[in-house]
Amino acid sequence: MAVPKKKRTLRRNRNRRALQKLIPLNLTHCPHCDKLIPPHTVCKFCGYYGTESIIPIKEKAHKPATA
Ligand SMILES: [Zn+2]
Repeated sequence: MAVPKKKRTLRRNRNRRALQKLIPLNLTHCPHCDKLIPPHTVCKFCGYYGTESIIPIKEKAHKPATA
């Protein structure tokens, strides 16, 4: 069985894992509503994937203006 040559210290582990969190999310613009979404996902704002409507999303009922 392969055995690690040296013990990895807690500090080394934590330093490595701290860097993993620093990498920012990769986001693209939705071609339909132009909001920021992760690539290759259905847009959660308009329900579109590329040019196709996948999920029908109801428009939020706007509150009537107080006047
Ligand atoms: Zn969208």
